Amino acid sequence: MGNAIRLSGLIILLATLLSPAGLRAQEARPHSMLVLDQSDRRGPFYYQVFVGLRDAVSAHSHAPTTIYTESLDLNRFGGEAYQESFRRFLETKYRDRPIGVVVAVGAAALEVALRWRPQLWPDTPIVFALVEEADFERLRPPAFVTGGIVTLKFENAVSVARAVVPDLKTVVIVGAEWERQVIFRNWKDQVAAGIPGVDIIEMVGRPMPDIIGQVAALPDRSAIIYTGLYSDGKGNYYPPSDALAFVAAKANRPIVVSAETFLRPGGIGGFVIVPSLIGAEAAKRALRLLDGEAPENLPPSAIDAVRPIFNWQQMQRWSVSEASLPQGSEIRFRDPSFLEKYRWRAIALATALLVQTLLIAFLLHERHMRRKAEVEARNQQSQLAHINRQATAGELSSSIAHELNQPLGSILTNAESAELILGSPTPDLQEVREIISDIKRDDLRASEVIRRMRSLLKRAPFEKKDIDLNQSMREAFDFLKPQASARNVAIYLQTSPQTLRVKGDPVQLQQVILNLVVNSMDAMARMPYGRTIIGRTEVNGAESAVISISDSGPGIPQDRLNEIFDPFFTTKEQGMGIGLSIARTIVLAHSGQLWAENQSGGGAVFHLSLPLAA
Ligand code: ADP
Repeated sequence: MGNAIRLSGLIILLATLLSPAGLRAQEARPHSMLVLDQSDRRGPFYYQVFVGLRDAVSAHSHAPTTIYTESLDLNRFGGEAYQESFRRFLETKYRDRPIGVVVAVGAAALEVALRWRPQLWPDTPIVFALVEEADFERLRPPAFVTGGIVTLKFENAVSVARAVVPDLKTVVIVGAEWERQVIFRNWKDQVAAGIPGVDIIEMVGRPMPDIIGQVAALPDRSAIIYTGLYSDGKGNYYPPSDALAFVAAKANRPIVVSAETFLRPGGIGGFVIVPSLIGAEAAKRALRLLDGEAPENLPPSAIDAVRPIFNWQQMQRWSVSEASLPQGSEIRFRDPSFLEKYRWRAIALATALLVQTLLIAFLLHERHMRRKAEVEARNQQSQLAHINRQATAGELSSSIAHELNQPLGSILTNAESAELILGSPTPDLQEVREIISDIKRDDLRASEVIRRMRSLLKRAPFEKKDIDLNQSMREAFDFLKPQASARNVAIYLQTSPQTLRVKGDPVQLQQVILNLVVNSMDAMARMPYGRTIIGRTEVNGAESAVISISDSGPGIPQDRLNEIFDPFFTTKEQGMGIGLSIARTIVLAHSGQLWAENQSGGGAVFHLSLPLAA
């Protein structure tokens, strides 16, 4: 049974190949196409049909194909004489140009092509495009004709009108008279049959001014269905998409359309024919014929070139939501989102923000690190200052011992005297009282020495207080006196008559004074005699107080006047070289200045200026 079927299939195939049509199919056809448009190809719709066709031909790369195009322009021209002259024109024009396939775009073009074929292209197959179901039925073309049949239903346009106008009551059809319509003329019967529940007003074949007047005052719950207008009735012709723009500018209701090219000029959308798909479909059939396939083997068939497409801007105008549209609808001409519109600016802004953020993060990090380093440096400095104070205290140990010995000695003497007095039969109690008060005074003096030592050696954090510089100098010099006399140094202090109020850390400022005086004593150590130190305080203008410590030592070599303040600069055998550098750091922290000079009469002088407190 299976074998029998296969055998009969083979016989049919052979018969087909050997038949005249089959033989013709094997002949090579010239690789050229003549595209015959029923309308003007310069209008957007027919142009898009052509673009679809041309692109499909270009994509078919294995054989170059020549495309010729002719527009019959049947919306604007017609009649026997016109058609006959056009035929003769083509006859002359293409005398030496063999045509492999004729592509007729539109039912009217197909009719003309069929009529002209015996004279112009007797053996050439015809591919039709943009032929509506009803036209195909009417023409019933012979076997050498193939093509894609499109179906456009009026009821689909009404269903879209219902989707965009809630509770739709009326549809108003705006277009040229049915007979002049090339694609939509088959709607005439469908319109006449009516749609249940909807009133249909045919505004068909009216002059443009009439139409524009009426569409501006349509009732609520109505929609316009636009089929196409080609002229204003006064001899002015235009592509139907241009005419739609005039209507849309005045219409007070949404306009449902059925061609993709009617979307942009003001149609809200609908089930629209996509012309480029029509062109591509026709090209595919034509190319198969040019490649040798027989038209009989490629029968006409329905094609899917209609899509639900809508115009977003019109949807906004008529408050139509996406949800109310048919499923799978495509929405065009959306306003670009902020990001789409300002893409590059947004990217630039975001980049700038990012860079700025990184920069800020970097700066914050750097600030944090600097703070950390500052704190560390300050810690180290205070550690050094403490070491320096310890060293100074060490150097001043004889002074301290002396200062303590004095009160302790007189306490002892006084205590012994009191003992003696109390041992007598009639002790003079008044004298004992005086002795005890002396003991108390000396004790206070001793504890004052210890207090000062402790405060000097204490590692206290930097704190600013109101200080009188004269007082600080006096205390320091008193403290230094025993050391000075032990080292044979005459030490004088001349304070300014007015008090010198400054804000500062008393212990640190005293450290500076001690460092300067001890340095002076060191500098004069090798001098056999005449060791003198003079301390002065004075006001410099209204702004600052100046302390100077001058000595009669050898002075400082001129080129080292600055160097001596560098850390670890020393000329002494046991020196650490940190005293002056710490002194300067302390003074700078008090917003003051510390500098050294040589006196004209010999010896060095150190000046310390500090801002006076307001
Ligand atoms: P050190 O006392 O440990 O050397 P300083 O920083 O206190 O460290 O002093 C640095 C150097 O400055 C001293 O070694 C000395 O050469 C010089 N100097 C300081 N004061 C005087 C002064 N009054 N006269 C001469 N030279 C001085």
